[in-house]
Amino acid sequence: MCQPFIRNHQYNAIKKQVDFLQTTVNTVSDPKVVESVRYNAPIKALEAFPHASEQERQLLEKISALSSAAECQSYLQFLEPYRLSFPEVSAKQLAKLYPKVKKLKLPDLETTDYRRITYLGWLDIAMTKMYLVYSLDGKMVGIDGRFTPANKGVCFLCNRHSEVALFTAVSKDRPANASPDYYKAIGNYVCMDSAVCNQNITDVAPLEKFIGEVMGTSK
Ligand SMILES: [Zn+2]
Repeated sequence: MCQPFIRNHQYNAIKKQVDFLQTTVNTVSDPKVVESVRYNAPIKALEAFPHASEQERQLLEKISALSSAAECQSYLQFLEPYRLSFPEVSAKQLAKLYPKVKKLKLPDLETTDYRRITYLGWLDIAMTKMYLVYSLDGKMVGIDGRFTPANKGVCFLCNRHSEVALFTAVSKDRPANASPDYYKAIGNYVCMDSAVCNQNITDVAPLEKFIGEVMGTSK
């Protein structure tokens, strides 16, 4: 048995392909189409694993053999022990990420399922603030900003239509000759419900880019 290697967004990418294969098997009568989806499913899932080992690759190639709903279900169940957890964080650690925020409102850490999140996101409704914590190259980073509810829209993280808010964060990036009142705000539409977003996110590139821009580390 190999070590856990599947991050939450990668698991979502696998599940998306498994679900698509199952829907195709159930609804498409042309065997050629089914075969092509069957052939492509592991290839597409593997796109989320740029550094997959041979053993990991073999685990994902099993997708091709799935047909019934029961098989799909038990395959996803079989992957559970291979899921990598988001690093568990304490209230103290979160407070350290936001030294300037007085009376930081915390997410419900007790009910957080760390194996099912790519990022830790929460709202402070009263202050109209949104918080987002992520492990970037092994280091915990936290960004925060204002949110403005925007009804339905496409979330920049999970790429789905959902209840979104405009999340506006102020970038720490300052030009050398900036005037004292200079600031650069960066806004993106993001799911109001981070639990739903975390069930659907399949790519961390937009999230890492956004964090880099806010932290002023993207060059
Ligand atoms: Zn989302």
